[in-house]
Amino acid sequence: MTEQEIFNRFKDEFDLNSVTTNQKKVDEFFKLQGYEGSKSLMGMQVTYPDGTNDIYLNIKNMKKYFEGLKKRGSVAKKERKEELVQALAEGRINETSYYHSLTNIDNASMFKEFDDYLRFVTLHELQHIKYRQQIAEGERLPNYEKRIDDLAIAYMKNERKAGIDLVVEKKMRDAEIESEDVVHTFRSALNSGILNTILAATPADRPIINDGVVFVPHHIAKRFGYAEDKMFKGYSRIENGFLALPFQFYSYTLANVNKMVAQWLMVN
Ligand SMILES: [Zn+2]
Repeated sequence: MTEQEIFNRFKDEFDLNSVTTNQKKVDEFFKLQGYEGSKSLMGMQVTYPDGTNDIYLNIKNMKKYFEGLKKRGSVAKKERKEELVQALAEGRINETSYYHSLTNIDNASMFKEFDDYLRFVTLHELQHIKYRQQIAEGERLPNYEKRIDDLAIAYMKNERKAGIDLVVEKKMRDAEIESEDVVHTFRSALNSGILNTILAATPADRPIINDGVVFVPHHIAKRFGYAEDKMFKGYSRIENGFLALPFQFYSYTLANVNKMVAQWLMVN
């Protein structure tokens, strides 16, 4: 995660004013706070009287610590915890470091990439913003730090679960849309008669000549001995089966045009 990504992701929820990961700026700030050259401090946060917050993340320290964590990853948890107790007893680490390390060992599976660890430290600082006051209730600092760690881990687990839920939900929605598409395709196929209609021309689909009937102007037809039609004055009705011959093969096309193309025009 970049500085900008961290800021965008958490700015509203935690009233962030700024996120700083630039090593030079972070080192300067740590020096100002009296932590010059600290190798164990991963991050700090500042809350302003108006409730907005700045967080400083020490990427250099985190990377070094994360490398060590990966290297020790193959050593059994039990053994590593015993080493921690020993280090605490000998005064090589303080109680706060002890709890931090314990959290990191117990949740090693959460920290696959460096980005995971960066997210954890970020969330630790953010939880400080959210639960700042409660240290005044007489809680010891190491216990408070332990609780902040637990809250950060819980947030990460929730975040992951929410992420997985979102993916599952999206997949289900996609599947629903896909099956809807299939239904629509099937329905429109049925409606357009592709699957269930045997196409045959009915009398209404065909021009009248298709039946072998033509009306020819009487002044021409009379030369061939045709009488004037009783219903259509000025025309002679010529009926001959052979007249329909060229149209036999068009019958399907005419039915097709009327039943399908015409329907397509109406639907659209
Ligand atoms: Zn802390």
